[in-house]
Amino acid sequence: MAFKFTPRKKFCRFCADKNLPLNYKKPDILDDFITERGKIIARRITGTCAKHQRKLTTEIKRSRQMALLYYTAVHSTDVKKKTV
Ligand SMILES: [Zn+2]
Repeated sequence: MAFKFTPRKKFCRFCADKNLPLNYKKPDILDDFITERGKIIARRITGTCAKHQRKLTTEIKRSRQMALLYYTAVHSTDVKKKTV
């Protein structure tokens, strides 16, 4: 499995960079915290702190509703067959 995140030094990206926006309007940033299959990456892997992880999940879910992020891997027919 190839994660976009290489577990090196763990730190919360949102704490480290106060200017890093954390909201559903920035799917390109949220994208870093989900796998290519659309799953939210666990906190222990990304190193995001509890406070921000909570916010992150909320924003990812919101973003999904706005159709800015995908729920699963690019709505392929293969995936649909399994989930629907
Ligand atoms: Zn944080």
